Amino acid sequence: MAKQELIIIGAGAAGLMAALELADDFSITILEARAVTGGRIRSHPSLLAPLVIESGAEFIHGKLPLTFKLLKKADIDRAVVKGKFFRKEKGEWNRQNEMIEGWDGLLGNMRSLEHDLTMAEFLDIYYKDEVHAELRRHIISYAEGFDVADIRKAGVKALYEEWSHEEDKFYRIPSGYGSLIGFMEKECVRKGCAILTNQLVKQIDWERGEVAVLTERGDHYRANKAIITIPIPVLQQAAGTTSINFTPALDAYVKAAMSVGTGPVIKVVILFRKRFWEKDMGFVFSEEIFPTWWTQLPDKTPLLTGWVGGPTADRLGKHSEEDIFEKALQSLASIFEKPVEELKTAIVESYVFNWVNDVYSKCAYSYDMPETAAARKLLCTPVENTLFFAGEALYDGESPGTVEAALASGKDAAKKIRKIIG
Ligand SMILES: Cc1cc2nc3c(=O)[nH]c(=O)nc-3n(C[C@H](O)[C@H](O)[C@H](O)COP(=O)(O)OP(=O)(O)OC[C@H]3O[C@@H](n4cnc5c(N)ncnc54)[C@H](O)[C@@H]3O)c2cc1C
Repeated sequence: MAKQELIIIGAGAAGLMAALELADDFSITILEARAVTGGRIRSHPSLLAPLVIESGAEFIHGKLPLTFKLLKKADIDRAVVKGKFFRKEKGEWNRQNEMIEGWDGLLGNMRSLEHDLTMAEFLDIYYKDEVHAELRRHIISYAEGFDVADIRKAGVKALYEEWSHEEDKFYRIPSGYGSLIGFMEKECVRKGCAILTNQLVKQIDWERGEVAVLTERGDHYRANKAIITIPIPVLQQAAGTTSINFTPALDAYVKAAMSVGTGPVIKVVILFRKRFWEKDMGFVFSEEIFPTWWTQLPDKTPLLTGWVGGPTADRLGKHSEEDIFEKALQSLASIFEKPVEELKTAIVESYVFNWVNDVYSKCAYSYDMPETAAARKLLCTPVENTLFFAGEALYDGESPGTVEAALASGKDAAKKIRKIIG
């Protein structure tokens, strides 16, 4: 009997994972809008090869099962991230053992909440007093930096779930996260999947058991089912460069997507001629516009990555790349008390990765608002056993917003389909 046809929209971690899971049972076509696969995973070769520059995902936050399993299968190495945490505030340097001093007490208060609140509401109840001003500032910068969340929207319960499962060790892939995508892509092709890039999907006409897809280039594709892995901000758009029009409309799903928080990020990567920071520095947190910077330890290459997330990234993302880079350099100059001109002359290569302006994702990763859990339940419900949504934002577990979350969601969509076909 001929295999059923399946279309997967988006060749990021979720789409490729779903394809790998279903390639034996379906004839699969993956339609990807970009010229390359990987989505929010993109590794660039640097002038200092084999050093790799990660424009998107960089860390593996703990021993995450699907990521580790794939790395093993692909025979790709991972390295434990090293280095100490430093904080520079009000002109003072501090070394610290954890990202936030007072972490345990904070988690206790978060755990004790009966009903979910936004982080802003929670801070107003527990940490309003002047004595807590510093802790309050650190919590906000952690939520905005790590979770790329707007504290006026982010739900405390989901943050608690994530923060209380934080692992001590995290990892990098020295050959780049892109090498994992390369492996998955090769495996998909080996199993017979067609991966078509530069295919921006604009229209999906569907009825039970039948899907007709139209791309911007005017190409038509037909299948029995489709898995849609486009990022949540793309699904949220009623009309936009990358948005998809569904007929019949899926208003309830699009509305549910509006209840998921989407976090903006700008990453600036600068390779210097030589190190000018402490040799055991892993991360530095500050009060600057680009508040967070990290090194490549244990790799000693003199490379710094600057990171700004949340509402500040949203505002800054509208500026030109030159402007953003200048702001990043000013932040660095202020933290390390060096003239901007001196830093400029020491630069070998530099990059600005403005994910706020990336039309195919419009965010780095999602976060939960108090209303997200119910919305996610609907988004994870198949539409007439014909359309299935997947992607990092639809994952419900301890590692939200990660590559692991995307892999798990792709796998989960595949499981639902397998259950239907029996
Ligand atoms: C700057 C940055 C840093 C990050 N850091 C980390 C980290 O350190 N660790 C970690 O685990 N995770 C990190 N992440 C998050 C991680 O990259 C994502 O969670 C994950 O890659 C998402 O995978 P996905 O398949 O769900 O979505 P995506 O990778 O976005 O895949 C969706 C695909 O759909 C395509 N698409 C969109 N619209 C259309 C359309 N209309 N037609 C066809 N195709 C379309 C997109 O081009 C994209 O390729 C980071 C992300 C960013 C941006």
